[in-house]
Amino acid sequence: MADLAKIVALCKRRGFIFQSSDVYGGLSSVFDYGPMGAELKRNIKNAWWKSNIHDRSDIYGFDSAILMHPAVWKSSGHVDGFTDPLVDCKACKRRVRQDQLKNLKGSIGECPECNAKIDLKDTPPRMFNLMLKTFLGPVEESASVCYLRPETAQGMFVNFSNVLDSMHPKLPFGIAQIGKSFRNEVTVGNFIFRMREFEQMEIEYFVDPKEDEKIHQKWIEDRFNWYIELGINKDNLRKRAHEKDELAHYAKACTDIEYNFSFGWSELEGIANRQDFDLKEHVKGSGKDFSYFNEKTKEKFLPHIIEPSGGVDRSVLAFLFDAYKEEEVNLKPRVVLGLNKRLAPVKAAVLPLLKNRPEIVEMAKRITSDLKKHFYVVYDDTAAIGKLYRRQDEIGTPYCITVDVQSLEDKQVTIRERDTMKQQRISADNVLEYLTKEGGF
Ligand code: ATP
Repeated sequence: MADLAKIVALCKRRGFIFQSSDVYGGLSSVFDYGPMGAELKRNIKNAWWKSNIHDRSDIYGFDSAILMHPAVWKSSGHVDGFTDPLVDCKACKRRVRQDQLKNLKGSIGECPECNAKIDLKDTPPRMFNLMLKTFLGPVEESASVCYLRPETAQGMFVNFSNVLDSMHPKLPFGIAQIGKSFRNEVTVGNFIFRMREFEQMEIEYFVDPKEDEKIHQKWIEDRFNWYIELGINKDNLRKRAHEKDELAHYAKACTDIEYNFSFGWSELEGIANRQDFDLKEHVKGSGKDFSYFNEKTKEKFLPHIIEPSGGVDRSVLAFLFDAYKEEEVNLKPRVVLGLNKRLAPVKAAVLPLLKNRPEIVEMAKRITSDLKKHFYVVYDDTAAIGKLYRRQDEIGTPYCITVDVQSLEDKQVTIRERDTMKQQRISADNVLEYLTKEGGF
């Protein structure tokens, strides 16, 4: 497995991910996606949207605002409860999460940063709210406090009746969205694993309480298989059911899908059975009726919720880790991203062997613009062919198409496949058909 430093270096070298505000020294735990990262991230989100919304008929896509009425966060429990207990390390002066102290026995543990002893009796833990606060309107006073959402879920819960009344779905049904969330995380690090601004892909699936356990298990399987279908190695993925004492107070059960990163098994997605906690709290807070009426049984009740909640950025990192390979080819090192073809940022690169031959350039550009009508293809003539192949291997481009002098005569081009590096000549007229069939684009 690659180490994190290699992934970070590749991301910078090939335009996937940059530190935010780099030129000003960077902003901690905030990152920007470059041209290749933006494509990869978009492809992951599209794959999620397709499999959870377009391929099904029981889930509606949604796009709620980041800013919401502060009462939402009061009802949801975030204002009072979305806190991490923190302790001060007197040796390194860092503030660390109590649950991340090492070898904690009784009141004594070790700082995760510098290993110094910390006695909780000397530095009692203090609560720290993870929500980022801002103010709406011209006056910065408590009446105008607003929060940047720490999860996308609440935007869907409070719209439950709007979806019910406009779309008339029958249980079980879901609402799903992808969007930015913000958390003022204390312990940060591991690149894009833990960020202060990140993106979530969340599904709120409303069920009859009699069916909750069966449907929860089905979601755990479906979400696990989604990562495998997109190329994650099964050995690097596991399901971990939460112990009773680890469960959030409102959850009946929760299973995490974890990936074996170089820094250890860590959560990619949590699939929780939240019961009727969220709808019940919003009924209490807003005074509105969120109940569902089953016309067949004539029962009226609050649906229970199964929530598969994943992070886009953590998925990006897992797909990068899983795809990263170092090989030796003809005694030279080759770095290749063996990404699933659906996720690859660029589907094919068209490379003219000689950029000073106008007929070759013209033919290569024509092939590029024909293919571009169907999927994302780039033209590149900025280096010698060996270097161009290396560049495309490192961004995971499944196919390179080379136009050479011979192509002008026989109207054939060379197609090179990323993983096997096998090359074959095919007619320029058949390139689209070949890529569609072989690449599945
Ligand atoms: P953790 O225990 O790692 O802090 P969490 O259990 O608080 O995560 P959830 O509130 O369940 O996370 O959020 C759902 C998903 O959102 C997580 O599985 C993760 O993929 C993503 N996520 C949460 N916090 C962050 C973050 N700070 N940076 C990147 N992704 C995050």
